[in-house]
Amino acid sequence: MDIQHIEIETEGHHSSIYIGESVTNFSRYVPANKTIIITDNNIFTHYGHIFEGYPVIVIGTGENQKNLQTIDIILDKMVSFEADRSWFVLGVGGGVVSDMAGFAASIFMRGIRFGFVSTTLLSQVDASVGGKNGVNHKGLKNMIGTFNQPDFVICDHTMLATLNRREFVGGFAEIIKHGAIKSIIHFIDVENNIDAALNGQDEVIHKLISDSVKIKAGVVTRDEKEQGERRTLNFGHTLGHSIEKLTGLHHGEAVAIGMVLEAKISVVKGYLDVNESDRLIALLLKMGLPIESPIALPELIKTMHHDKKRDGDSIHFVFLKALGNAIHEKITFAELDKLVYDLC
Ligand code: NAD
Repeated sequence: MDIQHIEIETEGHHSSIYIGESVTNFSRYVPANKTIIITDNNIFTHYGHIFEGYPVIVIGTGENQKNLQTIDIILDKMVSFEADRSWFVLGVGGGVVSDMAGFAASIFMRGIRFGFVSTTLLSQVDASVGGKNGVNHKGLKNMIGTFNQPDFVICDHTMLATLNRREFVGGFAEIIKHGAIKSIIHFIDVENNIDAALNGQDEVIHKLISDSVKIKAGVVTRDEKEQGERRTLNFGHTLGHSIEKLTGLHHGEAVAIGMVLEAKISVVKGYLDVNESDRLIALLLKMGLPIESPIALPELIKTMHHDKKRDGDSIHFVFLKALGNAIHEKITFAELDKLVYDLC
């Protein structure tokens, strides 16, 4: 299968995403004798042999590892390897690893170069792409971090074969999000290929990943620092982050429920036709994603007061106007409460 090469051009930086490239070719992209691998336990068990001969830092798995304590451990190990500013960090893993490896590389000696081998569907279509790196802080999602683009991202979809079912399905939430906010064609592509996608059929997965990355790369190129258009990528995340925090559901699952709620709020606001919202919910359901929040909406809104997207007594909220067309608007919490009241 052809390798898809997608570029992200931002101020002073150039990031290349290679979809369909093999992890076994990673050494072509990194400096010899000066590369540290950062990965987690699971991935090391499956793929550690590929990185033999390289210094490796292995962290624990899961969202609760994504914090400053783990960064401290990573930085200590980098010092013990006698890394200097000419060294390179290669994060090999899902979004938890790439968020932390990118952050550690960005602050070590005021920043060294880094890249990723992205190993989950969710990170191949979203987390590893776009240059947001960071950690949670005291239970608040992604509170500490940087904007800094990786030199490259390798998305090898053969690695998805070892991913468990729940994590694989979770990745479709971000693929559907990209269609919902930017491209009805991409959305329909998922609708038309549900079984093949869920069965991991190579060509279908390759196309869905490539098209999703193209959408995200376009947005990031136009608005790297999230001053405008990039905010639309937060569709499903404003409430999704509260759900993730309060329930421990995985990121993709929480985003799926967040999209359902934010689409319904878009309907109440008078922006979105209810049939469009139902169509989104039907697709999420068919993909095996959760659509009901275990936590009542008013309680989720309370938790949102700590969200990074907050701006005083307002929040940058993403509404759908149609499938394939999202807008972001600053609304007050009072207005949001009113919309939620009407919805409930
Ligand atoms: P994850 O990194 O926790 O990986 C999920 C699980 O799958 C882990 O247990 C991991 O060890 C395992 N795993 C990964 N690849 C595997 C493979 N190929 N074979 C077997 N097991 C494998 O979860 P995720 O869904 O990839 O990422 C979620 C994180 O990404 C969240 O912290 C979220 O906030 C972040 N995120 C960041 C961005 C961004 O722009 N920076 C965007 C979206 C999500």
